[in-house]
Amino acid sequence: MSVPLLPSVPNSKPVLYGGVEAGGTKFVCAVGEAGGRPLAEAVFPTTTPAATLACVDDFFAAAQSRHGALAAIGIGSFGPLNLCRDSARYGYLARTPKAGWHDVDMLGDIARATGVPTAIDTDVNVALLGEARHGAGVGCSDIAYITVGTGVGAGLLVEGRTVYGFAHPEVGHMHIPKLADDANFPGACPFHGDRCLEGLASGPALRERWGKAPDELPPEHPAWTLQAHYLAIACLNLLVLCAPRRIVFGGGVMRQAHLFPRVRARLHALLGGYLDFAGYGVDIDTLIVPARLGEHAGIIGAFELARDFALSRHRDALKVGKGRT
Ligand code: ZN
Repeated sequence: MSVPLLPSVPNSKPVLYGGVEAGGTKFVCAVGEAGGRPLAEAVFPTTTPAATLACVDDFFAAAQSRHGALAAIGIGSFGPLNLCRDSARYGYLARTPKAGWHDVDMLGDIARATGVPTAIDTDVNVALLGEARHGAGVGCSDIAYITVGTGVGAGLLVEGRTVYGFAHPEVGHMHIPKLADDANFPGACPFHGDRCLEGLASGPALRERWGKAPDELPPEHPAWTLQAHYLAIACLNLLVLCAPRRIVFGGGVMRQAHLFPRVRARLHALLGGYLDFAGYGVDIDTLIVPARLGEHAGIIGAFELARDFALSRHRDALKVGKGRT
């Protein structure tokens, strides 16, 4: 995979950022320039918060002593996360099923231990930033990024801004009408059974329904007709809700390239001519596309989150400076 590099300015000192991809099974930490390949990277297993966050803190201490001070750190974390700006628990993990991690101050712990300005967002929103600026979403300001793997998650970018309400969106739990052909499957969502997208179309849903891992199901297997139908309904719902110009699919289940033409065809049928794609300059072949950054999206996006945070702090400092004169 080639990661686009930003043009370097002669004799300028590179601005370095930290990135953390905090997952339920592993943490990936890296330092580097935004848009560039990491100068240093390490992977730690997700065990207890104390042990795992100590590894993260040690990594950034060692990386800064070797490569220099970081301008900011960006964290893309598993969730659910408290991202309500007014909350005293902003940046804390909320009611996560990951044992021992409920109410952990992910943002505050890393910020305090490293002494570096630190920002946090969901893992999918951070991957969305990576894909939007360096991957499949380049050139678009309205993007939905959906990852279909162990769970189903999504981030939404509207007019270049990530969408939040009182909480971050939970697109994976949108309710989906189930097909009659699928009546006997009880669903895989612990909260909604067979009523939501994750319950019907995640990797575990495929495995439980068909008794095989998604990678073991051949393209002609009826699993993929169902899968394309459910994903097309999710696309339809996103289109009528926020009209993204691009819907980027990532995650292990979406490594099946044959799924993409099927999802497009099913979406076309489900829409019934309702949206005038041609009139808006939208081509269904470039509307629904695979992610390009693969497993690198998280760290590339985390550098972007860090850069955005450093720039916003810089702008705020300039405003304060101007206010004093
Ligand atoms: Zn659900």
